[in-house]
Amino acid sequence: MKIAIIGGGPAGLMAAEAALAGGGQVALYDSMPSLGRKFLLAGKGGLNLTHSDPADLFLTRYGERRAQVAPWMAEFGADAVRAWAQGLGIETYVGSSGRVFPTDMKAAPLLRVWLRRLRQAGLTIHVRHRWCGWDKNKALRFETPLGTTSVRAEAVILALGGGSWPKLGSNGAWVPLLAGRSVSIAPLRPANCGFDVGWTEHFRTKFAGHPVKTVGVVAKSPTGAVMRRMGEFVITETGVEGGVIYAVAPFLRDEIEATGRGTLRLDLAPDRELPRLIKDLSQARGKKTMATHLQRRAHIDGVKAGLLREIVSKEDFADPTRLAAAIKALPLTLTATRPLAEAISTAGGVTCEALDKRLMLKALPGVFCAGEMVDWEAPTGGYLLTACFASGRTAGAGAVVWLKERAGRVKA
Ligand SMILES: Cc1cc2nc3c(=O)[nH]c(=O)nc-3n(C[C@H](O)[C@H](O)[C@H](O)COP(=O)(O)OP(=O)(O)OC[C@H]3O[C@@H](n4cnc5c(N)ncnc54)[C@H](O)[C@@H]3O)c2cc1C
Repeated sequence: MKIAIIGGGPAGLMAAEAALAGGGQVALYDSMPSLGRKFLLAGKGGLNLTHSDPADLFLTRYGERRAQVAPWMAEFGADAVRAWAQGLGIETYVGSSGRVFPTDMKAAPLLRVWLRRLRQAGLTIHVRHRWCGWDKNKALRFETPLGTTSVRAEAVILALGGGSWPKLGSNGAWVPLLAGRSVSIAPLRPANCGFDVGWTEHFRTKFAGHPVKTVGVVAKSPTGAVMRRMGEFVITETGVEGGVIYAVAPFLRDEIEATGRGTLRLDLAPDRELPRLIKDLSQARGKKTMATHLQRRAHIDGVKAGLLREIVSKEDFADPTRLAAAIKALPLTLTATRPLAEAISTAGGVTCEALDKRLMLKALPGVFCAGEMVDWEAPTGGYLLTACFASGRTAGAGAVVWLKERAGRVKA
């Protein structure tokens, strides 16, 4: 069973592991000089491998793709990811937010032992091999530093990633290669991404880089669905980014695509009810400045006060009731989604409808897909890597079963 895997990120490597375990003779190809570059980058800010959510809640993170992702997770969910890491000698712990990290937070040690184990199991690795489709004999075509080469395999697993951070290898160049073979592909779009606001020069100079801590956010989808989250974000030179923004990004992105604008409502004082705020802000200010009044009565200062000044009119600022209302639901208008190249992950890709339950392309029997190149999306929190691992496992095991079935059919 000769199986070629193209793409050496977490999905491709997990597919390799499953295919080797099933008795496959597995060769892995990647365009870059080394494997797992995005995985290593993920480890820079603390490698969030998975999440400790209960299984049902975990699945809700995949939104409309929940039903498609569920079978992958049934085989290799969050607990399996932790057990697998432990099998590599990497202990994990649950952080205060429920996120699961290796105890040393890093990706490099895990990747090192994983690659060693895969090589020992028989994996051959070919770096600097850029897949560029099939030749006229239906062999895989690769561009290498030594020229173009063709490779024959009985089954192929594509784990080519999405289109974010293209300098790390996944650049979405596979889209026309598969679209040209009648594979249905949803356009690649940014997920877990920032947004442009168009700050005034004064606000940008003063607050770019500042974190906005513990706010409530509300976003609406073009269909009217509402998403509420609590968390933090960061003011950027052009707008906003960070955890709580990523969490509601699909709704904001879709609204911007539909209407040209998105609105994010910020609750700058999530621990205070509106009537209490109105009462506190209505107290006599005396000779105190408005900044001091706001700080004393509503605990709003720094970047939060800056946001109010940036967005609220002078008249509303002077009126305690209207100011309190703005603190509880400050409308931030977003003018654009930041480009895909900057996003943490990618939405869109090979549609789930184009794949069978083993993740084999219906239009191309013997070709399987896994990881971020498949059309699902999820917020940060370890849900991305878990789905990449799980889909890689499904595709790797699926390729082996498909080849065995085919061999059985051929013999019969
Ligand atoms: C800054 C950052 C931080 C992140 N942190 C986390 C985190 O903490 N937790 C989490 O769950 N997720 C995180 N992610 C997301 C996670 O890294 C990705 O979801 C995951 O790496 C996707 O895995 P993949 O195997 O599908 O694709 P990739 O990791 O993108 O791998 C695809 C591979 O395919 C290769 N390839 C592409 N095209 C070709 C071609 N034509 N020929 C040959 N090879 C090709 C590429 O070189 C690459 O090696 C983070 C992402 C970023 C950018």
